[in-house]
Amino acid sequence: MILTSENYFSQEADKAYLSVSQYKNFIGTHGKVGCEAYAIAKLNGMWVEDMEESDALMVGSYVDSHFEGTLDLFKAQHPCMFKKDGSLMAKYIKANEMIERCERDELFSQFMAGEKQIIMTANMFGADWKIKIDSYHKGKCIVDLKTCQSISKVFYHKDSGYMNFLSEWGYYIQGAVYQQVEYLNQLANCKTEEEKEQCFKLPFYIAAVSKEKVPDIQVIAVEQSLLDEALAEVEHNTQKVLQLKNNDYEPIRCEQCDYCKHTRVLTVPIWSSDLIGEV
Ligand SMILES: [Zn+2]
Repeated sequence: MILTSENYFSQEADKAYLSVSQYKNFIGTHGKVGCEAYAIAKLNGMWVEDMEESDALMVGSYVDSHFEGTLDLFKAQHPCMFKKDGSLMAKYIKANEMIERCERDELFSQFMAGEKQIIMTANMFGADWKIKIDSYHKGKCIVDLKTCQSISKVFYHKDSGYMNFLSEWGYYIQGAVYQQVEYLNQLANCKTEEEKEQCFKLPFYIAAVSKEKVPDIQVIAVEQSLLDEALAEVEHNTQKVLQLKNNDYEPIRCEQCDYCKHTRVLTVPIWSSDLIGEV
């Protein structure tokens, strides 16, 4: 299957290829537990995400589509965001402020000035992966745009301690997969051994803008050691994800996500002490 911007997010493409978001559905991140049952149901079209288009999500999508160069299409698809005179409704004005803040910064603009929405595929750890790079600087670096609540927000987990937003939402995993798939593409395009020796893994950056009252911006370089660590984790889990996609065994329910809540079948009453569980 040849991937295009039209079919990239299709069910068919998701079945043929593994993506970072699919992987995260199965395995989870610090901020969101993975759920095999949910991931499979989603893949089979048995569960459609409740796209409750919250104002914050809409603001994020608006900023994304601006930098993708698809804002006109986005506007046409979301007429409810605009007033009769065509200007943005007050609750979405933040999106324009965020865009203006990014574009006022020279470094941010440079990083976002690569080739947009570049699709690549590669076979990695036995699976065919697909990636879509927000801003690709061939031979130089890979940049992903993130809109977030706050760039400096710290998340705490009992088992793993304090996390920044990259770790919380699995962006090291994304960086690791993008970097490796791009690297494999470099290698595949080489004709000679000498050419292969010239190939190297491109640095991965996050260009982040926050949705705060005063939008904050940063370009964040991700340390190679963290990408290596994340890639090793991906390698460890890929086989299991493939087997699940292949229906080799029954997916496990997390019993916490919306899908599990919606499909829960009661068999016996639980004890009140079960409500807190293991603390
Ligand atoms: Zn679940």
